[in-house]
Amino acid sequence: MKVQPKASHFIDGEYVEDTAGTPIDVIYPATGEVIARLHSATPQIIEQALTSAKRAQKAWAAMTGTERGRVLRRAADIMRERNRELSILETHDTGKPLQETLVADATSGADALEYFGGLAGSLTGEHIPLGGGEFVYTIREALGVCVGIGAWNYPTQIACWKGAPALACGNAMVFKPSETTPLSALKVAEILIESGAPKGIYNVVQGYGDVGAALVTDPRVAKVSLTGSVPTGRKVYAAAAEGMKHVTMELGGKSPLIVFDDADIENAVSGAILGNFYSSGQVCSNGTRVFVQKGIKEAFLSRLTERLANVKIGDPMDEAVNFGPMVSEAQMNIVLGYIERGKAEGARLVHGGARLDLPGFYIQPTVFADVTDDMTIAREEIFGPVMSVVDFETEDEVMARANATEFGLAAGVFTNDLTRAHRVVAGFEAGTCYINTYNLAPVEAPFGGSKMSGVGRENSKLAINHYSEMKTVYVSMNDVEAPY
Ligand code: NAD
Repeated sequence: MKVQPKASHFIDGEYVEDTAGTPIDVIYPATGEVIARLHSATPQIIEQALTSAKRAQKAWAAMTGTERGRVLRRAADIMRERNRELSILETHDTGKPLQETLVADATSGADALEYFGGLAGSLTGEHIPLGGGEFVYTIREALGVCVGIGAWNYPTQIACWKGAPALACGNAMVFKPSETTPLSALKVAEILIESGAPKGIYNVVQGYGDVGAALVTDPRVAKVSLTGSVPTGRKVYAAAAEGMKHVTMELGGKSPLIVFDDADIENAVSGAILGNFYSSGQVCSNGTRVFVQKGIKEAFLSRLTERLANVKIGDPMDEAVNFGPMVSEAQMNIVLGYIERGKAEGARLVHGGARLDLPGFYIQPTVFADVTDDMTIAREEIFGPVMSVVDFETEDEVMARANATEFGLAAGVFTNDLTRAHRVVAGFEAGTCYINTYNLAPVEAPFGGSKMSGVGRENSKLAINHYSEMKTVYVSMNDVEAPY
């Protein structure tokens, strides 16, 4: 099976190749097979991408928002029409089950294009009256050339979540997908051109971290939006600061999910499953520290293990399958290492815990109970299907423990006590919180992290502020008084 794209990069409306770049083999995680070979961007390719974006951006920004929005909405329609084809490609890129990609990837990308396409025509500044013939007006302006850098878990979605608000505001974007999943973003670029986007407004260049770093430090770049790990975020944020560039940082997490003893256990188990095993656990906002109040712990664990007996693991292209492989051999080995640490540090393995005897990079959905806060599996982001169930007794105690982490991406609570739910959420040190559900990220709602989990927000009207800036214009209709 081959899913070789026409070329590695998409620049100025066309596929472009430079075989002098370091090879990037695309491996299908379900089989370990090489399904495409691409090349990392050479300095010439990076130059071509930035020159083209810089040239195209001014004319794009000069169009009306309504015109720009029309292009984005057309792209959303095309993505929905081609959902199946794009979902199959996303599954090739990531190994995520087609059952998931059909509803979570191109569809989510299309939502972002449609939402920001709809907003584009209403992006304005404001008029600020000062009295006595004086006033200020503000002009919302594009930043210029924005760089998007993606992680490997949601390649189509990340390409759109960054591209859609950037383009709606009149910016151009150069997007670098993760080297592990380079295929899907090329299709987003192709579709934007087909929808009438001017050439150069959305370019895709492939590469490893060095290509990302070269883009971030280029003086023509005004803004960087990264989805990735905290260590990469630190480096990219520091490099962007050198050039005083705007940033959005969507980084890692180790989020708490608290289940009180009055919760609906069936719903809490569903939330914990969604928050740990969807996409084989490779979701940044996962609630991997599941704090369960002591009184319901055994009931929770027994229902959880019963439900996990029904997981269907296998060929991700089989639409009945709902649990796929890890994205790569390297990620699988990292996760297996954490499972060994969990066992060695004394956590009780209640489900899974091993690699599956299948071609590809499969790990069983894994649940540890009796996890304590000091264990490695309770402190570090694993980014795989490993749930840590942690006991607690009181609300005050669990809140302190839930917040005792450098991360602050997401947090959730299951309880039927209305006032407690809102009190707990008010106390969470996290950017995205859930009451009696987990891990939903509609485009209408801001998404992002606190503390080490990030800076800025994606989605919602707030994203507009991260892709535009205000010019203040002071107007006087009076004579100018000067002291001499
Ligand atoms: P990563 O940090 O290894 O890489 C992310 C991207 O940064 C890749 O494209 C990589 O090539 C690039 N990169 C690496 N070094 C760079 C450098 N010095 N300069 C510029 N770019 C550089 O992350 P990953 O392993 O691809 O993804 C997993 C991580 O992403 C997890 O920590 C996860 O929590 C996080 N994530 C966060 C969100 C969110 O929205 N908060 C969403 C998905 C994933």
